Amino acid sequence: MTVMATWKVWREASWGWLYPNWCHLCDAERAAAENGYVGDHCRSQVRFIEPPYCQRCGLPFKGALSTPFECENCRGESFEFEFARASVIANETVRLALHQYKYHRALWMEPCLTQWLVSGAVPALTNQGWTCIVPVPLHSVRYREREFNQASRLAHRLGAALGIPVQENWIVRTAPTPTQTRLNRRERAVNVQNAFETVKNASARNQSVIIVDDILTTGATTNAVAQVVRELGADRICVWTLARAVL
Ligand SMILES: [Zn+2]
Ligand SMILES: [Zn+2]
Repeated sequence: MTVMATWKVWREASWGWLYPNWCHLCDAERAAAENGYVGDHCRSQVRFIEPPYCQRCGLPFKGALSTPFECENCRGESFEFEFARASVIANETVRLALHQYKYHRALWMEPCLTQWLVSGAVPALTNQGWTCIVPVPLHSVRYREREFNQASRLAHRLGAALGIPVQENWIVRTAPTPTQTRLNRRERAVNVQNAFETVKNASARNQSVIIVDDILTTGATTNAVAQVVRELGADRICVWTLARAVL
């Protein structure tokens, strides 16, 4: 057994001890490690995003619509990305899972989050000519606090599923942007405007880039990243997030 395999067995055994096979979200049902300790009932609460949705920001639209449309938020807005899409709606269950994952370092939930991300993204992004993935970077101060970048971890899972590389050396987050949760659309855009910079000698020439993040709210953060990726010379840019807020 390799060192890695031994570590994995030990780690899973210790998680099993800390968190016996119960759902880590509701604490009221059985759950297995391969499902990230999220039980069947909680997983059944997850809503995958299906058409119709805004062709630019991916906001789902309730009702029947067969022609492409743009939502109210996107009218008059200019984005640096072709389109933004997400796998699932950021409802209570998904938000709780993401919160545990990000702020309580619940890495054992990753198999579940990855399942949601990949099953939405892979069918939509395969054979579309995308050449690499850029995760939304975390500022170094935040990284030290959290010890991992959730966007980067999800990007690597998606990259493996799509068979394309993840580029993490092109851009940096230069401002430890305060949390955006209390800000409105306009304030969010201003807040992140100058938060990202290109790395010296980096180039995204001839690349078709998928920007990946855990959650999209107004698109301000991913648009700021897209702007910097555009400066690096990328041909095409789209955004894929695990979840999407439906305000
Ligand atoms: Zn549950
Ligand atoms: Zn829209």
